[in-house]
Amino acid sequence: LPNQSSDGALLAVDIGGTLIKLVYFEGNEEVKSHGRATGGQLRFVKFQTSRLDECLEFIRSKRLLYGRGLDTGSTSMNVKIKATGGGAFKFADVFKEKFGVSLDKLDEMDTVVTGANFLLKKIPNESFTCMHGKRTPVVVNQQNLFPYLLVNIGSGVSMIKVMGNRKFERVTGTHIGGGTMFGLAKLLTGCTRYDDFLKLSQQGDNLVLDLIVKDICGELVCQKQGLSASTLASSFGKVLSSRRKLSDYKAEDLATTLLSAFTYNIAQVSFLVASLLRLKRVYFGGSYIRGHASTMDNISYAIDFWSKGQMHAIFLRHEGFLGALGALLSNLN
Ligand code: ADP
Repeated sequence: LPNQSSDGALLAVDIGGTLIKLVYFEGNEEVKSHGRATGGQLRFVKFQTSRLDECLEFIRSKRLLYGRGLDTGSTSMNVKIKATGGGAFKFADVFKEKFGVSLDKLDEMDTVVTGANFLLKKIPNESFTCMHGKRTPVVVNQQNLFPYLLVNIGSGVSMIKVMGNRKFERVTGTHIGGGTMFGLAKLLTGCTRYDDFLKLSQQGDNLVLDLIVKDICGELVCQKQGLSASTLASSFGKVLSSRRKLSDYKAEDLATTLLSAFTYNIAQVSFLVASLLRLKRVYFGGSYIRGHASTMDNISYAIDFWSKGQMHAIFLRHEGFLGALGALLSNLN
């Protein structure tokens, strides 16, 4: 970040409904001792929004506010932190009290789009497709990058038509998002850690709870009428005709059913929005995906199924950090 403006810290935060994303620049040793930011690495870290104190302690212990040449130990009074996400407003006072710094609040969609465009243009092998657990890099054609649909799956879901650099429209969104899914997951499975929940879902069988076409029509009719026997007819649909109580179901079966129900639903809404806008490429971001192979497989399958192979679901390696990265980039002259 050689051209970073003098009053900007070398970090940016995206304070969301569930997670705080922090992107910061860590200079190498030589750079640190000279106090100039001419080489180093970008680092990406997440915290629970409910544990803001841990994030603040991290910023303090890593001396992230002493940016360029500020290793004197005291925070420069005019340092501002680029911040995005709803929490940038909610928690501005906390940053002021703790560090004496102001949050420079940036539009959430603007930062998400800036982050996505930067990754797609500048970072080789950033985007990929994922089918049957196999990732295939997507070679981004810079002349033909726009327009695309960006679906950011966070606590809620935002769908943004991106036409160019800082040229975008937030078309729609849905409140049935990652927060909904994981909120229900917490109640139904007792999982409080997302990664544990994802692991658990890997061990489950969705057919214990999901109703598929074969369950309704019978196998013979499916065969005779050429219906796809294994097509999902109703997520959790088997529960109604069963005498089992919640405690009779295995947490892993509940987990896999829940995750696939929401993932298919979000993918289907994304397909419908992309169809209305006549967009062929749909990029998925947000921490919901978490690099999880089955989640990406299910999204890819749904987009392929509904579009009859005409649309492509594309994923990003830095999926959860689009907003934070976009905010950091706004520091550049
Ligand atoms: P937001 O900006 O709204 O916080 P994110 O893009 O950070 O949204 O995604 C949050 C969602 O990602 C959660 O609702 C959940 O579905 C999932 N998730 C991924 N990692 C975690 C985690 N460590 N803790 C809780 N939820 C997580």
